Amino acid sequence: MRVKTDVLGVLYDNVTMQEALERGAALLEADAPAYCVTPNAEMAYEALHDEAFRAVLNGASLVLPDGAGVVLGAKILKTPLKQKVAGIEFAQNLLPILEETGKHLFLLGSKPGVAELAAEKMLQKHPKLCVCGTMDGYFKDDSEAVARINEARADVVFVCLGAPKQEYFMQKHAPELNVHLMIGLGGTLDGIAGTVKRAPRWMIRLQLEWLYRLIKQPSRLGRMMRLPKFVFAAIKKRMKG
Ligand code: UDP
Repeated sequence: MRVKTDVLGVLYDNVTMQEALERGAALLEADAPAYCVTPNAEMAYEALHDEAFRAVLNGASLVLPDGAGVVLGAKILKTPLKQKVAGIEFAQNLLPILEETGKHLFLLGSKPGVAELAAEKMLQKHPKLCVCGTMDGYFKDDSEAVARINEARADVVFVCLGAPKQEYFMQKHAPELNVHLMIGLGGTLDGIAGTVKRAPRWMIRLQLEWLYRLIKQPSRLGRMMRLPKFVFAAIKKRMKG
């Protein structure tokens, strides 16, 4: 039985990156199709007000705290998490495991051409990795994506359709997909392909990745206001005891 840490209704796995990778590797060997989610504070704030979305997140086999906001919220609530486990880092760290075990990886999502570029970048670092298929995230009918993934005989799918689309996709289609593991990873393919740059290391270290994103894409402001709202909700809950 895994111990979960409840942060405003979302039940996180309180794991280090290493432990998350061990869980991921174990799910790769299991028979039933599992899905993993990586909620950041924006998503967690949505889940606070959306019961259906919260249920989809909590139905995942692995729930990783993506972002400093979630870690801060947990700390405020006196149920600290071991560390932030960013989705993009989890995905990148999983690649050598996929390479070693010969698992087939399918890249789903982002704008046309991005998944192919991400695959190229992955193969430069991990030449033995098997990327069995790619598909952009602007398909009209989910069944097209389901068919492509099954035809490619994928073991693992990086599902990068943005939240909450990717989480609903994984939950809804898990029963008909012949895969071991799907991971909801937002803008990860853009990050790996280099079409959207990640913050410099010093900003990541100072927990300022959100500020970098805001400067680069000011249109995200509305969305990003959910981060302070999430922290405020944690403070309110703590004060209520
Ligand atoms: N996206 C997609 N299909 C859609 C909507 C979005 O494939 O219908 C992609 C989009 O191109 C981007 C990713 O989903 O690559 C979501 O990125 P976002 O920045 O919203 O995610 P975050 O990095 O915040 O998790």
